[in-house]
Amino acid sequence: MTAPPAALNLTGHALTPGAQRSWWLREALAHEPAPDRPPLAGDVTADVVIVGGGFTGLWTAYFLTEAQPDLGIVVLEQDICGGGPSGRNGGFASGWWDELDGLVTLYGAEAAVKACRAISESISAIGQFSWTNGIGAWFKKSGYMYAITADAHEKLCEEMVALAREVGAPEELRELTAAEVRARCDSPAFRGGAFMRDGASVQPGLLVRGLRRVVLERGVKIFEGTTATGLEAGPPALVTTARGAVRAKHAVLALNAWATGWPQLERRLVAWSSYIVLTARAPEKLAAIGWTGGELISDFRTSLRYFRTTRDGRIAFGGGGGRARPTIDNAFTHDARAVTEAAQGFRLMFPSFAEVPLEDAWGGPIDVSPTHLPVFGTLEPGNLFYALGYTGNGVAPTHLAGQVLADLVLGRDTDTARLPMVNPVPHLFPPQPFRSWGAAVVRRAMISKETAEEQGRRPNLLIDQIARMPRRMGYLLGH
Ligand SMILES: Cc1cc2nc3c(=O)[nH]c(=O)nc-3n(C[C@H](O)[C@H](O)[C@H](O)COP(=O)(O)OP(=O)(O)OC[C@H]3O[C@@H](n4cnc5c(N)ncnc54)[C@H](O)[C@@H]3O)c2cc1C
Repeated sequence: MTAPPAALNLTGHALTPGAQRSWWLREALAHEPAPDRPPLAGDVTADVVIVGGGFTGLWTAYFLTEAQPDLGIVVLEQDICGGGPSGRNGGFASGWWDELDGLVTLYGAEAAVKACRAISESISAIGQFSWTNGIGAWFKKSGYMYAITADAHEKLCEEMVALAREVGAPEELRELTAAEVRARCDSPAFRGGAFMRDGASVQPGLLVRGLRRVVLERGVKIFEGTTATGLEAGPPALVTTARGAVRAKHAVLALNAWATGWPQLERRLVAWSSYIVLTARAPEKLAAIGWTGGELISDFRTSLRYFRTTRDGRIAFGGGGGRARPTIDNAFTHDARAVTEAAQGFRLMFPSFAEVPLEDAWGGPIDVSPTHLPVFGTLEPGNLFYALGYTGNGVAPTHLAGQVLADLVLGRDTDTARLPMVNPVPHLFPPQPFRSWGAAVVRRAMISKETAEEQGRRPNLLIDQIARMPRRMGYLLGH
């Protein structure tokens, strides 16, 4: 393995991605230590078995207990709850007004606005939940700023803002001049942009571990260190593990990118990696660039770069690289090259932080759907439920998914269960091996094209054509 360039100033845990849990989760486990729940040993029965102890699984358990406190609920988690992306993400709980293009294309304007409003409610509800349950997940609603970093993004920005106006929600997204962008965060890379008021930052590790505590207090049985190895739908459903099985009337698959290994769901997603680097504390540098408002920020790339501040004056900076892979392996957590790519993006955007070391880094898988949007639904024979396809934007949508899945399990006909992304016509990726090859090639082409555009170069013609392929094939991915 080649050492990262010295100019990137990577130190400490940033040099050993994957060897330790994310900085968020380490903070959360130190703040609220809780013993791991023992693995399943033997056979149990339940009303509902949930596979996956991230936000989707735990919110589903939470909303089930809200509706029916005496329901027998079992959660199986192969790691510890929050050990996956729910405890490793950027902590952007962001609205869907920037997803209007896809939502309107798929479902029409009225349904798209309804979906956006539902996500907005989820963002507020996450804040309320944290407050009510004493979780202290650093919830702060300061909005989301998009920053233009290449000419190619100017049109995207205009179209995004225009669409919010067209659907009657002009207050949700507004254009910003270069001066307005740089007044919020003065990076020489930023040329202009847009502001979405619907965006809150959270400390995701604290949130997911707090949610775990709440559902445990409500009597949900969690088995950690327990990998589900098989599923028979039944009914009743039977979920098998190495040392026992759970028989339940209903099963919920809350698997995120691991769904690539499950035949019921595998063609609905491809798994891409995303990595985050974290600076040392540097509150004085943040003050110097005027980034003291806590805004979430990203650029417009498909290989999105996203960044935010922490309460103690650091920048967490994600994305810009990563890989597509057929199975979830170490490449999603231990990839030093992806860390280097994230660090390069950071150094490009924040030259005034050159002396500030990047002292932590971690990564995880993202479940990219063909539409860039998640779907929630029911599988045959009617007692299996799933939510997936968050495409790197799941912090707020998993809260909505939890409500939908609880409604579907309980057979409740609610406004939430009637949202357009519930049981839509399935969009599928091609079968293997084409899916993996295609995803890997297109992902690298997109990164290469976007890097060229950012550097003011014309992308290589072939690369450009490959990067545009998903759109040509009817997927709502890439530009
Ligand atoms: C680096 C990174 C940054 C991100 N940043 C953001 C962001 O800023 N904002 C945002 O909205 N989204 C972000 N995301 C995406 C977000 O984290 C996810 O969409 C969200 O956490 C999905 O929650 P989940 O519960 O569905 O999945 P997960 O948190 O992945 O939970 C699924 C769980 O299932 C478990 N599991 C898998 N297979 C099995 C099995 N066979 N048996 C038992 N357990 C199993 C896994 O261990 C995992 O814990 C980011 C993701 C990554 C990787």
